[in-house]
Amino acid sequence: MKTASRPVVAKKSLLAAALGLFVLAAQPAAAEERAKDLFGAEKLPTATTPQSFGFYSKGCFAGGVAIPMDGPTWQVMRPSRNRRWGHPAMIALIEKLSRDAAADGWPGLLIGDISQPRGGPMMTGHASHQIGLDADIWLTPMPDRAMTRAQRESMSATLMVDEKTHLVKDALWTPQHTALLKRAASYTEVERILVNPGIKKKLCDTVKGDRGWLRKIRPFWGHDYHFHMRIGCQPGSPDCKAQEATPDDDGCGKPLAWWFTEEPWRPNKKPDAPKARDVMTMANLPKECRAVLDAPGPDSAEAATYHGGAVPVAVAAPEPEVPSPPAAMASGSGDLPGAANAFAATPRMGAPVPRPRPPAN
Ligand SMILES: [Zn+2]
Repeated sequence: MKTASRPVVAKKSLLAAALGLFVLAAQPAAAEERAKDLFGAEKLPTATTPQSFGFYSKGCFAGGVAIPMDGPTWQVMRPSRNRRWGHPAMIALIEKLSRDAAADGWPGLLIGDISQPRGGPMMTGHASHQIGLDADIWLTPMPDRAMTRAQRESMSATLMVDEKTHLVKDALWTPQHTALLKRAASYTEVERILVNPGIKKKLCDTVKGDRGWLRKIRPFWGHDYHFHMRIGCQPGSPDCKAQEATPDDDGCGKPLAWWFTEEPWRPNKKPDAPKARDVMTMANLPKECRAVLDAPGPDSAEAATYHGGAVPVAVAAPEPEVPSPPAAMASGSGDLPGAANAFAATPRMGAPVPRPRPPAN
């Protein structure tokens, strides 16, 4: 939807003109459009080869697929947000986690936000989740019935942490919660799992034996109703920017102790300061994100819904033959090639190649 934000630009231009300001003239109008308006308006992904552009908190992605609303071992929550989209490798991994977790004794996953169909910044919530490689999963086990649409919109998640002490509520935490996080951390694709500091402390205090996986469990504000699973840049995404590696130790020492001081919880000095998503324009995103907005989509959400049980063909091969973007795009210089150029060399993906679903467990 390119038209959605035109009025905003027009209004801004009028305002600037009225004030005698001509700052907008220095850049093409399109670059001034707020990225969250454009990406937030997209209803479907691009029908192109999967590829992430930029960083988790500043980027977009192509070739997204949706996780089905229901699976044997998962249900999608808050469906009206239309954030059940991700890189096919992410969606495949969530489904795998749901099966493995069920085998471990967790009844099934309630899936929160993944990404918008083409990623990018969102109108509400989340600094990251922009390149199809982040997913929020509730710390509430799945009920043993399929919830209605209305229930998925309204059901509350369980707050696992005491807001005063920042410690886990012991009456709520179970060995199955620990097993779920351990399972998620066990996948090589998963680089980080963000949890509330109270949850990290609970794991540090209670996990016996193999503690190597604790390295991936990272304390962060919030994340007391859900955990956030982040996978690394996938093959075929040369313009995906990797994050720093986590330190080698279990993270249970000094850095964790800091979270139980007063400093991290001081009130925000500038509560009214605009958030990154409110000021991020297309000019702040990788240039390829313009082509992602302009690229053709599938006929329907169903056509881009992932129905395979294994990693899709496009990302299964260790070194897939994905042509590099044109030099002008790669270097970020010159005019951005049109959508046809940006994606001409890659095959149309459409729906992922169906594979037989393995047994639920
Ligand atoms: Zn998240």
